[in-house]
Formats: sequence, structure tokens, C-alpha cells
Amino acid sequence: MKYLSEKAKRLTPYVAGLQPQGEGWIKLNTNENPYPPAPSVFDVLKAADIEKLRLYPDGESGILKSAIGAALCVGEDYVFCANSSDEVLALAFQAFFSGKNNVKTADISYGFYPVWGQIYDVGLDFVSVGSDFSISPDDYKNAEGVVIANPNAPTSLALGLSQVEKIVATNPDAVVVLDEAYIDFARVESAVALVQRYKNLLVTRTFSKSHSLAGLRVGYAIGDPMLIDGLCRVRDAFNSYPLDKLAQLGAAAAISNPAYLRETCAKIIDTREKTISALQNLGFEVLPSQANFIFMQATDAGILYEYLLQNKIIARHWNKPRVDDYLRVSIGTENDMEVFVTCVKQYLNERQKKQV
Ligand SMILES: *Cc1c(COP(=O)(O)O)cnc(C)c1O
Repeated sequence: MKYLSEKAKRLTPYVAGLQPQGEGWIKLNTNENPYPPAPSVFDVLKAADIEKLRLYPDGESGILKSAIGAALCVGEDYVFCANSSDEVLALAFQAFFSGKNNVKTADISYGFYPVWGQIYDVGLDFVSVGSDFSISPDDYKNAEGVVIANPNAPTSLALGLSQVEKIVATNPDAVVVLDEAYIDFARVESAVALVQRYKNLLVTRTFSKSHSLAGLRVGYAIGDPMLIDGLCRVRDAFNSYPLDKLAQLGAAAAISNPAYLRETCAKIIDTREKTISALQNLGFEVLPSQANFIFMQATDAGILYEYLLQNKIIARHWNKPRVDDYLRVSIGTENDMEVFVTCVKQYLNERQKKQV
């Protein structure tokens, strides 16, 4: 198309998971939460003052920042909020990585990192994960920047806090961005515990997964006030009001309800472990997950993906080296996962019949 800029022509945009319209789908492809948002979110959004929408929202998201600070035991000046953690991450790439080389990330990780690398002129160094998909802190020394998803996607594996600390401590002159989109489902401790000690650590989080608010688009970062200022600088060169009033209210209500968060995460973790056992009993290798999804090995994973799709179950499959014989499957309700496992059994039976 002749109107595109050279930069836009060169981009390879991120391909998001399908969002099918219509009823009857079991959607296990974008790691959304199968449970509704906290009751407190319903309350504040129903009571919201619609008349006030004529005014711009608070660009600093003050109410939300203080709710996040209180929930995570950090000062408000350690908090930055934006319209999704994808936006927080994109702003972090611009603030800390633009124009740099040797910004290290894992070769098997979140598919948006290479896209931001391209659009914001970041020289990314893709470090190979081990044969078991693990990340080794020793591979991340002498970087000009680091970005790691912990737990990682799509592998579902996580680094322990001491391993994270090693990466942060060995790179005092580079910003380490730790994307904790799935931390509420993990056994490992959050690196938020380290931000007061390390000025170069920025932890990003989202309300999309554990808080059941993918539709509200709210993300945040926790880090030293100096890093937060850097993010604000770039934000104010792009959009000074990234979060609308309703999003600020809804997210603040969600994070102020830790009991509901714990309860729904516990249910998902329980369903996850049951699903892993059921698949292992069928002979599948499944990575030990610390997220709200699983990464399962399957020969002909592409065929299994299509079979599930025909049965109105959507998983995620990538036609890429090293991961093409795996499926990533989000954890739905107990019932969703029973239907999924039954469908996988049916697939195995039909395949066996064809072979004899
Ligand atoms: C889902 C996801 C995000 C994005 O979350 P949003 O706040 O919905 O943009 C970021 N990082 C990883 C690793 C994710 O899986």
C-alpha cells in the first residue's frame, strides 16, 4: 500500500489469539479468567457517575495507584498505571531500551517483545532457553537491558526469586523488566519484594489474567521512583490520560478485594493440577505449570489443534521451531477442562482406529 511509511511496511505485527463471536465456544487460547470479576467491581461500575465522563480522567490514576500501593505494600511513588500491561511494556521499551543493543530476552517467550523491539528500534539478543525450556540467569550478564516474563509464556515455567535477583544484581547499569502477568498463579515469590533494593528493576503486572478484567485493559508497573518518572515522561509524549475513569474505578475495586483474588486463583490452580494429571494419564508430557495455562507436548499438535477447533474448543498452537509440537491451553472452569480432556481422549481413540 503506497501510503504506508517505510517503518510501517517493515513491521511484523503481533498476532493475537482468535476472539470468536457467537455462542458455545470453549475459549482456552488467550489465558482469560473463566470466573467473573470481583463483586466489588460490579458494585463500583454500576454506581459510577456517568455525568462525570464529560471530564478527562486523572492522568496519574491516583486512586488506583494508592490501591495498588496498599495491596503490594509499596509507596504510591513506586507505581505506574496504563491502559494494559502491553502498553506499560511498550512504554518501558521506549523509555529504557530504544536505540540500545544487546537487550536480552528469551527466544521462547511472549510474542510481543520482538514486535516492540522492531517498532522502537531495540537491538534484541534472543537467548536460547534450555532443552527443558528453562531460563538460566548466567545467560543474562552484561546486558544493556533485560526483559523476561516470569512465569514465562508459553512455557508456564518460572524462575525463583534468588534467580531473578541474580539477573538484577549482575546488571546494575541496565534496566531489568520482569513481566509478572501470571505471578498470582505461581508458587515462586514476586520480585516486587526486590524493588526497594534494586533501582534497575521494573516489575509489570496486569489485571487481565488473575483479576478477570481483560476487557477493562489495565496494567501497571512497580519500580524505583526514578524508573516511574521515566515511564511518565514517555507516557506524556504519547497519551497523558491512558486510563479512563471506569477502568481506574474497576481496577481499584478489584485489587482491594484480595480474598476474592485468592479464592479464584486457588480454584484455577486446582483445576490446572487436575488437568495436568488427566493428560499425563493419557500419556502426554506437560510442563510443570506456574500459570493459568499449560504447555503440553503432542505429536501432530497442529492436527490436535484443528480437531479441538472442530469441536468448538480453541487452544493455541505456533508453527515455529521447538514449539510446533506443543499446545498452550488456558485453564477454564472445572467443566471446560473436563470437556477438553474428553475431546482429547476422543481424538486419541479416533487416531488409534485409523492406525489399525
Ligand atoms: C497477557 C500478557 C500480557 C498482556 O496483558 P494485558 O494487560 O492484557 O495487555 C503481558 N505479558 C504477558 C506475558 C502476557 O501473557
